[in-house]
Amino acid sequence: MNIILLGPPGAGKGTQAEYISKKFDLNKVSTGDLFRENIKNNSPLGQKANEFVNSGKLVPDQIVTDMINNWLISNTDNWLLDGFPRTINQAKSLNQILKSCNQILNSVLLISVPNNMLVDRLLERQKIEKRSDDNMETIQVRINTYEEETKPLITYYQQENILSEIDGSQSISNVSISIEKELANIKKKINN
Ligand code: ADP
Repeated sequence: MNIILLGPPGAGKGTQAEYISKKFDLNKVSTGDLFRENIKNNSPLGQKANEFVNSGKLVPDQIVTDMINNWLISNTDNWLLDGFPRTINQAKSLNQILKSCNQILNSVLLISVPNNMLVDRLLERQKIEKRSDDNMETIQVRINTYEEETKPLITYYQQENILSEIDGSQSISNVSISIEKELANIKKKINN
């Protein structure tokens, strides 16, 4: 089963990705985590991504797509992508990659949360995790970027008939339960 988690910053993708990947035994990649790791180690990739990540802007498509392409070479099946794709361009590149290695994307889970709740959650996270992009100014840029560049993916994947919406305003455990139910259904369909 190959799935994508989609949703605005603060929707809880990272938390759910962690849980779901263990529960369903999926190989997980979180693009944001990968970038933060590379920035911390000051790797060439980190140096390229640094200014974008820290200002809340998207890292250029080519850089992210190459990174995911490399990851998919060693994780050919049973994966969960958290944070990719984030633009229509990235989604199209992913389609190409999957075609070239005969893989199928089974489901896109959209975790929806109202904007006012997102800001509160991200400011709360700032107190605990001290992520440099969780300040009011950068949060607003990230939410706007989501609205402009990532939201069009909802229609894109609806047209492919693989999008399911999850109510991300519930408690963490209830969101997990909703996702588990959805994925159990998808698994059933795959096996039929
Ligand atoms: P959040 O979803 O809370 O914004 P992430 O950890 O997923 O946080 O991403 C942090 C940052 O990493 C983004 O603001 C962006 O700069 C960069 N990033 C992550 N994924 C992508 C992507 N697919 N395309 C471009 N930039 C990305």
